[in-house]
Amino acid sequence: MLDVSSFAAGQWIAPGSGARNIASAITGEVIAQAGNDALQVQDMLAYARNTGGPALRKMTFHDRARMLKSVAMYLMERKQALYDLSYDTGATLSDHKIDVDGGIGTMLVFASKGRREMPDAHVYLDGPPEQLGREGQFMGRHICTPLQGVAVHINAFNFPVWGMLEKLAPTLLAGVPAIVKPATATCYVTESCVRLMLESGLLPEGAVQLVSGGLGDILDHLDCQDAVAFTGSAQTAMMLRGNPNLTENSVRFASEQDSLNASVLGPDATPGTPEFDLFVKEVQREMTAKAGQKCTAIRRIMVPDTLLEPVIDALKTRLSKTTIGDPRLESTRMGALVSASQKRDVLEKAALIRGEAEQVFGNIDDFTVDGADKDKGAFVPPMLFHCADPDSASRVHDTEAFGPVSTIMPYRDLPHAAELLNKGKGSLVASIITNDGDTARDITLASAAFHGRLYFNNRTSMAEATGHGSPLPHMVHGGPGRAGGGEELGGIRGVMHYMQRTAIQGSPDILTAIGKQWVPGATEISDRAHPFTRTFTEIDLGETFNSPARTVTLEDIETFAHFTGDTFYAHMDEEAARANPFFPGRVAHGYLLLSFAAGLFVQPDPGPVLANTGLDNLRFMAPVAAGDSIRVRLTVKHKTPRNDEYGEVRWHVTLYNQNDEAAAEYELLTMNAY
Ligand code: NAP
Repeated sequence: MLDVSSFAAGQWIAPGSGARNIASAITGEVIAQAGNDALQVQDMLAYARNTGGPALRKMTFHDRARMLKSVAMYLMERKQALYDLSYDTGATLSDHKIDVDGGIGTMLVFASKGRREMPDAHVYLDGPPEQLGREGQFMGRHICTPLQGVAVHINAFNFPVWGMLEKLAPTLLAGVPAIVKPATATCYVTESCVRLMLESGLLPEGAVQLVSGGLGDILDHLDCQDAVAFTGSAQTAMMLRGNPNLTENSVRFASEQDSLNASVLGPDATPGTPEFDLFVKEVQREMTAKAGQKCTAIRRIMVPDTLLEPVIDALKTRLSKTTIGDPRLESTRMGALVSASQKRDVLEKAALIRGEAEQVFGNIDDFTVDGADKDKGAFVPPMLFHCADPDSASRVHDTEAFGPVSTIMPYRDLPHAAELLNKGKGSLVASIITNDGDTARDITLASAAFHGRLYFNNRTSMAEATGHGSPLPHMVHGGPGRAGGGEELGGIRGVMHYMQRTAIQGSPDILTAIGKQWVPGATEISDRAHPFTRTFTEIDLGETFNSPARTVTLEDIETFAHFTGDTFYAHMDEEAARANPFFPGRVAHGYLLLSFAAGLFVQPDPGPVLANTGLDNLRFMAPVAAGDSIRVRLTVKHKTPRNDEYGEVRWHVTLYNQNDEAAAEYELLTMNAY
């Protein structure tokens, strides 16, 4: 018997009065208890706000990204312990991989994105500066800073590890502490993962707390600096969303709910094509992975009416090969539902669907379970329904049986397929298996607004595709309407849910000081040694090099043209160039100007500049003709550490002509030694 504790205000609190029993999904026996009515939620909030938050906010985005990476690596080495516990939730080894490895992988992606896409600073810059005054001395830009409260994460039972880590990674990267409340049915796995994270010593004190069992009245004590991220059923979401304190204090409430996700077989994907087989395989996998207890699972299957029979036959063949049993057995392909009550719920929902559709596969009274007692564990067979008249049906479009239950339905043409897709009234994901670009586009235009994600797969992508049901950390996970209206993940977008966007307005120097990024018009430092001689550590924002001028000759232009082969008429033919609306006559190549610019600003000796790694936002603004002269101004705009040896310096470069007009502007990237 496991005592599943909570971690509150720095203490592990064992189950106490009000604890709930948790049964094994396989044997039905009570294996754990969790919950304690005496949990002091106000102390937890204070601990997060006063200890965890300040510690996290002291760190930069890069510090926090490094922390995530270390935590993920720590968990990776100890994942077997989480696998071992997870079998009792009914999950198979391949289910654990989605949950445990998927959760750790999500953390690693945020760790990497945090280092690559966020600054090594405390303020995130959202977009470029905007010039608000005529002379450029009054500017504006948007910044994001971490909320100064706590994130309360309420998670569903089906992914006890991934469900926690996919929310925790962006939250901690933002710099916000979290209180995690897993679903009670599987909280013993989450508790074990939290114990590992805390014992690693890698998280600052107060960054993560855990509520095992009931959440108490925590939502009544949140304020405008807090955020709630909920995952679970639409019913619970509606109840929690209605909390008057959340409304009164405009507490952010993100909701990821159930939805009636669908998959469409394209009209081109007839039997014999790779797409037909792929479709059958994906549908079967989505029905049976996690015994169908996936928020993204395919609940509705839409196929051209002419292909209905062959698809049903192929699905029946595949589903009949899905061995059901104790998930610890290697031969088991599908384990059990999480609990007896979940089984009851699934069977009740299946009965509703049966009112509108004929069951063509799966019989609850006649199926085999290997290595476990069918009557004690929460086992069910995959159940496939066929709805012949999906236009007048409603239960098949709004009833989520959260198990291995799906309904197949015919469509007449693509507009009809889109109409059926949209009858789910908002879903997390819809997949379309097609090798036809027009089909993909038509469905997108008719249906994208109803889905958080559209997944297209065909012969080209199938070897690499990650599956209809995988919410990838790079892509938005969530959906409109029935799916809750939330948007988790999506790369750095997911981090923004835990930050406040603020418009700041002021002089270029003020904006530079706040954002740690030099803004045009801010002070330039030009009385120091050549910036290429100064190390990454030494060099300051605003350090500027002003080059001498160089005259561009006709001979330069011709030499460059013949050397590179770029004999475009604008550089070679006076008359033709003059007829062009952009040029006064023959002009220098833009790339010649860039090369001259490098020659003008470079400091040739070996030094801290290791490499030129790129150039961003290049604009040619005024033509340069033979006889014109050019000079360059190079200013340190931004610095980002990259590894232990060097960091990236982003330089603002402007090329001027003899009239001090900007001829070109760009950002140059170099790697500089520390
Ligand atoms: P649920 O019954 O709605 O519970 C979700 C969470 O809410 C659990 O942690 C639950 O805790 C908690 N909760 C329930 N009542 C509460 C209250 N009064 N105050 C505070 N917390 C409360 O959902 P579930 O059965 O765990 O999960 C299955 C559902 O989640 C399915 O419908 C599925 O589609 C959906 N889901 C959606 C996503 C997504 O990303 N969109 C992902 C996974 C699952 P207790 O367990 O302690 O009651």
